[in-house]
Order: sequence, then structure tokens, then C-alpha cells
Amino acid sequence: MRRLQIVHLYPRDMNLYGDRGNVLALVRRAQWRGWDASVVEVEPGDTVAWGDADLAFIGGGEDRHQAWIAEDLSGRAREMTAALADGLPLLAVCGGFQLLGREYQAQDGRVMPGIGWFDAITRAGPRGRHVGNVVATAALPLDPPTLVGFENHAGETVLQPGQDPLARVRVGVGNNGRDGTEGAVAGHAVGTYLHGSLLPKNPHLADWLLAKAQMRRTGDERLEPLADDWEWAAHAERAAEPRR
Ligand code: GLN
Repeated sequence: MRRLQIVHLYPRDMNLYGDRGNVLALVRRAQWRGWDASVVEVEPGDTVAWGDADLAFIGGGEDRHQAWIAEDLSGRAREMTAALADGLPLLAVCGGFQLLGREYQAQDGRVMPGIGWFDAITRAGPRGRHVGNVVATAALPLDPPTLVGFENHAGETVLQPGQDPLARVRVGVGNNGRDGTEGAVAGHAVGTYLHGSLLPKNPHLADWLLAKAQMRRTGDERLEPLADDWEWAAHAERAAEPRR
């Protein structure tokens, strides 16, 4: 039996718009395949045994929530970037994505340091909040390539030269509303503005993360297929009716 340990960073403060549902989706999809799945919840000050981790997740948060955890997170930069460089899959949503980049300048002007895994810089934009449904085309080899979700952010993220986006936006704003990019990918880490929860409605992205987790332990990326009719029905409904 495969074992999957998910490190969930800051579930108390970083959990907007059902972001915790991403962790539930990963656990369920692992259990449906007969894997032994567990979640380690990490709050500021906790020690993390990164060598035992198979996958990591950090959700979104309001500026003040990000400010509570930013210092603790940036103190983990060295050990986290070592784990990510070793192929650890990670999903970071919105406020979590911003802090996986170089830095986030919040609405009130204060600058929070990120861990710099993504070569991206975020500033709260002058144009108010970007709120609504998103449909995007993933740059990852996903079948189908469509990703659906919901965004709500003031931050505008600019990917630096050489930093790959996760996707191209078809409906919605994404990283900044100017260059058409959405999120970022580096190694097996995915950053995105898509809440929703994201993974229940995008089972191909959930399985991409699980496949990378499995590959890291066993060298084999193949996953047993699941009956995803409901998940794909939810995905199709969002893709067809992107109301803003
Ligand atoms: N506080 C950040 C912003 O407004 C992130 C928000 C979020 O995680 N939804 O851009």
C-alpha cells in the first residue's frame, strides 16, 4: 500500500473559499486507490519533517492573515526550497502562491518576504479587487488542458523572465490582467489564484500532483484511473458558464 503524507501549512489562517477542500480531494483520491493518506497540519513555530512529506499545500488568506504567517514561512525558506528542489509536489493558492514568490506588497504598503521558489513579485494593485470565475488553459500536460476556478485578489503578480506560468487565462484576470498568465509552475510546485475549491473540480490537476508524489517514492508515475463523472460534470458546468 502506498503511503501519502500531506503537509498542510497554516490551515488556521490560510483557508479562504474552501481551500481546505483541496486537501480533502487529495486525501480521498489517494484513499480511493487504497493508499494510506494522512495530513500533518503545520502552524507557526511547528517543526516539519520535510523528509517524510509526500506533498505540501498552502491556501489563501487576507492580507492580515498573510502578515501573521509570513515571517514563520520565510524562516522555512531553506528547508522548503531544498524539499521542492528534491521534487516535492506542492499546491499554493492565492495568498499562499504570493508568499511562495519573492515578495508580496499588501494594500497598506507593507512588504512581506516570500520564500522565492517562484520567480514572481506581487503588489496589491491600484485597480481594486479581481473577483470572479476563471477559465484557463494549462501549460502542464493535462487532458483536457482546461482549468476552472474562482479568483478574489487585490495582488497583481508579475512572473519574472524565465518563470513558467501554470496557465493562460481565457476568462478572468489571473496573475495581473495584462499578460494573460495564470499562476506559476516550478519543479513539481504549482502556484495559482484559483480557489473554489480547485482540485475537486479539476481532478486531472489533483492527479498530476499525486502522480508526482508517487513517482518521487516509487519511480512510477502511473495512477489507477478513478470514476470521475461527478467531478467532470462540475468542471464542464464551470467551463461552459464562466459568469463574472
Ligand atoms: N490578500 C491577498 C490579496 O488580496 C490574497 C487573497 C487571497 O488569498 N484570496 O491579493
